Amino acid sequence: MNPYEHGEVFVTDDGAETDLDLGHYERFINENLTQNSSVTMGKIYSNVIEKERKGEYLGKTVQVIPHITNEIKQKIYGFEESNTDIVITEIGGTVGDIEGLSIIEAIRQVGLEKNPEDVLYIHVTLLPYISGSNEIKSKPTQHSVKELQSFGIKPDILVCRTERDIPDSIREKLALFCNVRKTSVIQNKTADCLYAVPLMLEEEGLAREVCNHLKLEKYIPDNSKWETMIENIRNIDKNKVVKIAIVGKYIKLEDSYISVIESLYHAGFANHVKVKVDLVDSETITKGNVKDKLSIYDGIVVPGGFGNRGIEGKIETIKYVRENKVPFLGICLGMQMAVVEFARNVLNLKDANSAELEENTKNPVIHIMEEQKGIDKKGGTMRLGAYPCVIKEGSLAYQLYGEKEISERHRHRYEYNNAYRQQLEEAGLKVSGTSPDGLLVEIVEIEDHPYFIAGQFHPELKSRPNKPAPLFVGLVKACLK
Ligand code: GLN
Repeated sequence: MNPYEHGEVFVTDDGAETDLDLGHYERFINENLTQNSSVTMGKIYSNVIEKERKGEYLGKTVQVIPHITNEIKQKIYGFEESNTDIVITEIGGTVGDIEGLSIIEAIRQVGLEKNPEDVLYIHVTLLPYISGSNEIKSKPTQHSVKELQSFGIKPDILVCRTERDIPDSIREKLALFCNVRKTSVIQNKTADCLYAVPLMLEEEGLAREVCNHLKLEKYIPDNSKWETMIENIRNIDKNKVVKIAIVGKYIKLEDSYISVIESLYHAGFANHVKVKVDLVDSETITKGNVKDKLSIYDGIVVPGGFGNRGIEGKIETIKYVRENKVPFLGICLGMQMAVVEFARNVLNLKDANSAELEENTKNPVIHIMEEQKGIDKKGGTMRLGAYPCVIKEGSLAYQLYGEKEISERHRHRYEYNNAYRQQLEEAGLKVSGTSPDGLLVEIVEIEDHPYFIAGQFHPELKSRPNKPAPLFVGLVKACLK
C-alpha cells in the first residue's frame, strides 16, 4: 500500500498490515483487532488459489461465483465459532466499483442464507451541498441506492454524510425514493471533534434503528465516560496551543501520518492543551535553514519511513533538537536516525549510517537482523506486530510508562547495532528499553535534555483518545514547559 495513495499502513498486535480505517476502529472502540478484521482481495484470491492447488475443488471450474464469494462469506461466518455476537463488516469503495462487485454479491448471499432479522444493510452515502443555490442534493444517494438494488441489496438504513443539517423535506424525499423508513435516514454531519461522532449518531437514533431491526432487546446505552471526555476536549482553552512539527517525507497526504497526528491530539487532551500539528517536508531541510524552519515549533516528531529520500533533512532536524534542547520524539526510522545523528556528530563517526540507506557503510550503527541476512530485503520480511519491551528503572521511559514491561507494535526490518552500544551509551545516548533477552534495543534517550526519546516501535498505533500513548503525553507535557 503506497502511503501517498492509501495513507498510513496500520499494524495490529498480531502483525496484520492493514488499511488505516482499522486504526480509527481501534481508537473509537478501544479494542485490539486482529488479522481476521482485515480482509483484502489479495488474501481472498491467494486462499482460493492455494485451495485449488491442494485439490479442494477437484472436478470443478474455479470461478468468482461461487469460489471467491464463498471465501469472502467464510471470513464473515468465521466469527460464528468465536464468542462474537455481532459482526460489523465495512465494505470499502463505492457501489459499482469493479473491485467491489464480488464482495457485494457475497453479502447479498449472506442476507439470503441468514434469517432476515439477523442481517442488516447500512448504506453510507454523501449528500453534496451546493453553495450557489444553498441546497442539499439527494439525487446521488437515490442513484447509489438504485445501483445497490440492482445487485439485489435493499439498504435498511441510510447514514448520510453532510456538511449541513438535512432539512425535513430532504429526509422525506430520501425515505420515499430510497425505500427506507424516515427514522432510518440518519444524519452524519461533520462534527467539531472527530470523537464526538458516536454521540451524534446516538442522538440521531442509529443504535435504536439497528437494535429494532436485529430484534435486540431494548437497551439504555451508558455513554457517560465518553461524554465526559468530549466535554473535557471541548473545554480546552483555544488560546492555549502547543505547536508540533512532524518532519517526514510523505507530507502531501495527511493520512500518511494519521495515527501520529491523532496521538498528538490525544496527548493534548491529556494535557488540556490544543495541539497544532504541521507536516514539514524533510527534503526541504538543510543545515542552513533548519533553524529558520523549525524554531517556531515547541516540539518535533520524526516519524517512521523507508528509503533515502529526505533522510539528510531528518538528521539535520535531530541535530538541531538535540543541540537546542527542543522536545523530540523519534519513531522507528526516526529512532534509527537519532542513533545515526548521534554517532556522526557526537562519536565523530562521520560515515555512520543505517545499512538500509547505505549498504556498505563502514559504520552501520543500524543494521539488518542476523536471521534476515541473505534474504531479499523487500516484501513481507519485516518484524511486525506487538513485541514486549523491558524498561530500565529510573529512566525517562520508566517515568512515562510507569511500568517495567510494556508491549508496543512494530513494523521494520533494521535494528540498532549492539556493536556500538557501549560507545553510544558512554557518550550519552542511553538505552532505556530492550527486548526481554536484552538483545534488541527498543528505546533510546538522552538524560541531559528536556525531552529526547525515541522508540524502535510505533507508539502511535496503540494511542486512543481515552488512553493516550505515554511517549506522546510526555512530549506535549515537555512542550508546555
Ligand atoms: N525503514 C526502517 C526499517 O525497515 C524503519 C521502518 C519504519 O520506520 N517503520 O527498519
